[in-house]
Amino acid sequence: MSSLFDLTGRVAVVTGAGRGLGQGLALGLAEAGADLALVVNKTAPDETAKAIEALGRKAVVITADLSTEAGAARVVAETLEAFGKADILVNNAGIIRRTPAAEHAYSDWQAVLDVNLNSVFLLSQSFGREMIRAGYGKIVNIASMLTFQGGINVPGYTASKHAVAGLTKALANEWAGKGVNVNAIAPGYMATDNTEALRNDETRNRQILERIPSGRWGTAEDMKGPVVFLASRASDYMSGHVLCVDGGWMTR
Ligand code: NAD
Repeated sequence: MSSLFDLTGRVAVVTGAGRGLGQGLALGLAEAGADLALVVNKTAPDETAKAIEALGRKAVVITADLSTEAGAARVVAETLEAFGKADILVNNAGIIRRTPAAEHAYSDWQAVLDVNLNSVFLLSQSFGREMIRAGYGKIVNIASMLTFQGGINVPGYTASKHAVAGLTKALANEWAGKGVNVNAIAPGYMATDNTEALRNDETRNRQILERIPSGRWGTAEDMKGPVVFLASRASDYMSGHVLCVDGGWMTR
């Protein structure tokens, strides 16, 4: 059974791998046997790379600004230069800007769409081409509860995460027959920098915890099993699915 989840010999690209959920996603894939291209924005994730190398896996750090087309192109070029292929792509990098819709600056809207949606398209398209050529590939996009719900004060983020699900399905339809599975994970409320403002707001923190059946915020560790599942042979017949990892939030 374990061979279904074995990623030995696979190369995985994880964006936003320096901290938060990306770090957990990258470590989970490495623990299952994959070598990693770790895409980071500014600060190199020494910690993530060292932990992966300690597992006996290879880790290559790629610094790129995914808000630009050139940044996405660099990720593709450097991954192929280092490994010659990419079997798994996890589009995890994301940003959030919190201001009411009536005051939401267009520059914030654009910044969020650039990272959360446009980079997902660019990386999926380029790596997808390679995967189609190889006849094998796994793309996992990181969605959100705001793929399903409207949220408050985050119109750009909500629009981007709804679009991530749409793009996941569009690519899945085209590529499932070519050996490339495209799916998404929708994390619930996870304790990372992204949600620090919510956790620091006593009222919002209490309201959120009251609605989570599991009774706690999620962690990067909670992402490991789901991503290994969607990145491995175990999910070969899954396509265009958005998997909620949310402690039951969506069932409430
Ligand atoms: P985080 O802020 O800790 O990490 C975001 C990562 O994205 C960072 O590593 C950052 O360097 C990277 N990044 C941001 N802008 C970038 C750019 N221009 N170029 C390259 N990299 C860039 O947040 P997180 O909670 O770990 O978020 C990871 C993903 O999970 C995001 O897509 C987020 O929307 C999603 N998500 C998070 C939660 C949550 O509760 N934390 C819930 C649902 C979805």
